[in-house]
Formats: sequence, C-alpha cells, structure tokens
Amino acid sequence: MAFLDDVKKFGKNITDKGKDVIEITKLNSQIGAEKDKIKDLYLKIGEAVYKAYSAGEGSAYDELCGQIKEIDAKVVELNAKVLELKNATKCPNCGAEVTKETAFCSKCGAKVNG
Ligand SMILES: [Zn+2]
Repeated sequence: MAFLDDVKKFGKNITDKGKDVIEITKLNSQIGAEKDKIKDLYLKIGEAVYKAYSAGEGSAYDELCGQIKEIDAKVVELNAKVLELKNATKCPNCGAEVTKETAFCSKCGAKVNG
C-alpha cells in the first residue's frame, strides 16, 4: 500500500514540522527574553556611567556623557516649547502640567501662578 504509506509519511512530516514551528517560536521568544536582559544591562551600565559623570567622577565615556547632557538640555528646551504651545506650565511643586491660567495645581494644590 504505497499510497497509504505516502499519506502516513506526509502526515508525519506535517506533525514534525508543526512541532518544529512551535519549538522555533519557543526558542525565538527565549532569545528575545535573553536579548531584553542584555538591553537592561546595557541600560544599567549606561546609567551608572552617566551617574558617575554627573557626580564629577570622570570616565572614559566623558564624551558620550557630554552628548547626553546636550541632548538632555535640548529635550528640556523642546518640552518648554510644547508647554508654550499648549499654553501650559509645570507645577513648581509636583511637576504636573497645568494651564497658565490656573492659580493652583489640580494635582497637588500648590500655588502655580502669581
Ligand atoms: Zn502640583
């Protein structure tokens, strides 16, 4: 019964391939999780280096940290522009975004203007 054997083989191949696909998906998600761990560590390393730089402890990464500082300043500037366009300001107490007309912060109640 060559035909039936072929069908059986075909069926077996499909199950094996199905198992493979599941296994590959599993492995890929494992790889993704491991890579995320590495990214977290990169982030921690970067943070530690930048903290040391900010604290005045020079490092081999001074130039890169200097770049972060510049970008930080730019972000602050851009955020200020966004607030300006929204006619908003930041609460001096909690940092919440409030409209310029507001006298008191809606989040913490601190005096915002005047
Ligand atoms: Zn506030």
